[in-house]
Amino acid sequence: MAIKKDPYRDYGIATRAVHTGTDYDEGTGAVRRPLHMANSYRLPDDLSKVNYSSTDLLMYSRNGNANQQWLEEKIASLHGADDAIVLASGVGALHALFWTLLKSGDRVVYPKVSYMAVYRMFHELFNRKFGVETVMTDMTDLDAVRKAITPGTRLVHIETPDNPTNCVSDIAAIAEIAHENGALVSVDNTFASPINQRPLALGADFVIEALTKFINGHGDAQGGAIISNDLETMDRIRYEAQVNVGAVISPFNAWQIFRGSVTYPLRMKQINASAQKIAEWLEQRENVTFVSYPGLPGNAGHALAKRQMTEGFGGVISFGIRADDKAVERFCAALKVVTFAVSLGHDESLIFPQPSYDERIDLYPAQFRNGFIRFSVGLEEPGDIIRDLDQAFRSIGL
Ligand SMILES: *Cc1c(COP(=O)(O)O)cnc(C)c1O
Repeated sequence: MAIKKDPYRDYGIATRAVHTGTDYDEGTGAVRRPLHMANSYRLPDDLSKVNYSSTDLLMYSRNGNANQQWLEEKIASLHGADDAIVLASGVGALHALFWTLLKSGDRVVYPKVSYMAVYRMFHELFNRKFGVETVMTDMTDLDAVRKAITPGTRLVHIETPDNPTNCVSDIAAIAEIAHENGALVSVDNTFASPINQRPLALGADFVIEALTKFINGHGDAQGGAIISNDLETMDRIRYEAQVNVGAVISPFNAWQIFRGSVTYPLRMKQINASAQKIAEWLEQRENVTFVSYPGLPGNAGHALAKRQMTEGFGGVISFGIRADDKAVERFCAALKVVTFAVSLGHDESLIFPQPSYDERIDLYPAQFRNGFIRFSVGLEEPGDIIRDLDQAFRSIGL
C-alpha cells in the first residue's frame, strides 16, 4: 500500500522537511508523534481480509511499523514523489530493488565506479548465484553507455556523483537511452541528496538514498530508502523484499532519522557552501594533486552538474595529495577538527583514505590511483576545517 498523498506538496522543501509526516498525537495532543517500539499491533476482529504478506495493515513490524511509515511520507516528500519505502540500510534498499526487479537471464548495466556493495552484488553475487548478466560500464561516457545498453536490458543503475571519485554522469541522457531499450533506471542519489538533485524529475524510475548519510545527518542511525512514482513496482518491493526478505528498519532508527531529516535542507545548504569554499582552497594548495568536486568550474562534470543539480554540489570532496599510503594515513590521523572515520554526511567532517592497494583502484581515472582521500564536509566553521587541513599538511611536511 502506497503512502498518503503529501498535504504540503505545493510548499518549499524546508517547509516539507518540517511538516510532512508530522501530526498531533491523537491520544495526548502532543505535538510530536510518538516512538512506537512495538513489534505487533492489535488485529481487527474480522481476520478474513488480512493478508499476512502485505504491508496494508499494521500487524507485525516487518510488515510495516508506524515510525517507518511516517518517515516514508517525509522522504517521498523531499523528492516530490508519490511513494517511498524505508528499510534498514542504504544497501538493504539497493538489494531490495535489485532483488525485486532482476531474475535469471536478465541484463543489468552498472557503473565502473560505485558504492562498494553495488560492485560486490553485480561483480560477484547476482551473476554467480542467480545467473544475472551484469555489465559494467563507464557511466560518464555516453558512447560506452550506448554500447552497454542493448535491447532487452532490464535495469540500468547509475550513481552520481559517484562514491568515491565524485564523478558526474548524465541522468537524463542515460534514462533516455535506457528507456529506448526497454530498461528501467535507478539512481543512487546519496552523494547529492534530494535538495541538490531529484532524479525522478530527470527521467529516472527509482531513486536510492542512504538515509544514514546527509538526510539523518547526525551519524547515529542507519537506514535507506527507495523512492518512486511507480506504485505497482513499489508494492512488489514491499511484498517480495520488505516482508519476505526482511530488511525492515527498526522503529527507533526510523524515529531518529525522522528527527534528523527535519533540519536536512538547512544543514545541506550550509554543507554545500562550506564544501565549495574548502574545494576552492584545496585546489590552490601546493601538494594537492587534484580536487574532484562538481562545483569547481574546472571540473570535467561541472557543466553537466550545473544542469542536473538544483541547489549546490554536495558535501563530499575527493582529492589527492602528494604522499604514499602511509603518509596519507598520518595526514588523516593528524586532523583534530575532522574525524578519521568511514561514512559521510554526518554533522562532523569525516575523512577516509582510499589506498593504492584498493582492489578497484584500476577502475578509477588515473589521477585517483595515488594519495587519494574522500572527505565529507561537516557543519563546523569552514575556516576551522581549512586551518585543520593546513596543520595536518604541515605535520607530514607538505
Ligand atoms: C553509504 C552509501 C550507501 C549504503 O548505505 P548504508 O546505509 O551504509 O547501507 C549506498 N550508496 C552510497 C553512494 C553510499 O555512500
